[in-house]
Amino acid sequence: MNPLDESTVPSASNRAESVGGRGLCESLVREIHQRMQRIGRPVQIMEVCGTHTVSIFRHGLRDLLPKGLRLISGPGCPVCVTAQRYIDAAIRLTSRPGVIIATYGDMLRVPGADGSLEKQRACGADVRVVTTARGALALARENPGREVVFIGVGFETTAPATAALVLEAQRTGVTNLSVLVSHKLVVPAMIALLQRDDVRLDGFLCPGHVSVIIGENAFIPIVEQFGKPCVVAGFEPAHILTALVMLLRQIEASEACTENAYPIAVTKGGNRFAAELLDRVFQVCDTPWRALGVIPQSGLELRPTFAEFDASRRFTLDIGEDHDHPACRCGDVICGVAAPTDCLLFGEVCTPLNPYGPCMVSSEGACSAWFKYGRRSAAQLQSVGETERCALS
Ligand code: SF4
Repeated sequence: MNPLDESTVPSASNRAESVGGRGLCESLVREIHQRMQRIGRPVQIMEVCGTHTVSIFRHGLRDLLPKGLRLISGPGCPVCVTAQRYIDAAIRLTSRPGVIIATYGDMLRVPGADGSLEKQRACGADVRVVTTARGALALARENPGREVVFIGVGFETTAPATAALVLEAQRTGVTNLSVLVSHKLVVPAMIALLQRDDVRLDGFLCPGHVSVIIGENAFIPIVEQFGKPCVVAGFEPAHILTALVMLLRQIEASEACTENAYPIAVTKGGNRFAAELLDRVFQVCDTPWRALGVIPQSGLELRPTFAEFDASRRFTLDIGEDHDHPACRCGDVICGVAAPTDCLLFGEVCTPLNPYGPCMVSSEGACSAWFKYGRRSAAQLQSVGETERCALS
């Protein structure tokens, strides 16, 4: 189907693949206002992905939207949704003799019950930042007398790299490497949100990079079971605005289907090679999400064939329970039932320099984005570049 039925604007594909035109953004914003007027009621859209949250703030898009159109940040920041118990387990591992922790940089400052990996490193623990999963393999090869534990977090975007790491370690006989796995799946989390009584959503702006792996069709269950429109979006202002237009068109027509506003990168079926890689190494399991509890069939664990690479088995780790800060509302923020500014700690006690919860740590966290950009007006953003200016004008 053609998601954009107005003859006054270019086709959806053309609009989605164009990222910079000032006139394009103007026409998209105008169309959003027109559609909201015709819908005639408040609309709540969840941007599932943390990168969308940051882009929306960074480009000042909220300032351009009608008041009744509310964008809610969702559970798509990998650092934010990693249960505290995994951070605590990683912290405990740092005290094991000979262990090197290899982690993506975002995880360093995430608070556990008592400290963070960064604080452990400051106290002498061997915690190394890697930018790719393969970096952990290199560390293991360079340190044959040590045990390297890779902290495997993230969604379907990073999980294939972890799978490839495990396969490569097995193939080349690297035995001093293991993975503390906390990979998560996006769609089960979206379904879990829709099953909550306190979450009211009219549609989803679906994550662009996860969709590269899982494909547009992965969101069909959300449409079929819950009747909620799902539109995959890229990360430039024109991508996001285009996806919003497509969502509002569906809402206006009382329709629900999956659509793709990021066709340059996302296909219907996703990346089959990555999917096969995931299936070969991982199996789906119930897993705890920070502040959301255990969501059935929402995580990945190593298949029994790869048990030797499971850090929790190798080190007989008790993953334990979460002990989140009682005043931190990350769970409510991740579910979209509270804005970061609803948290009493926001901006005064909890800041990027002194984070109390993961949503303030990660650059993709909602609290961090609100802190960094939320207090800037659209006018202040006008000097930051052509792409941004096009969204603000
Ligand atoms: Fe948690 Fe800080 Fe956000 Fe409050 S402001 S919800 S304490 S991360």
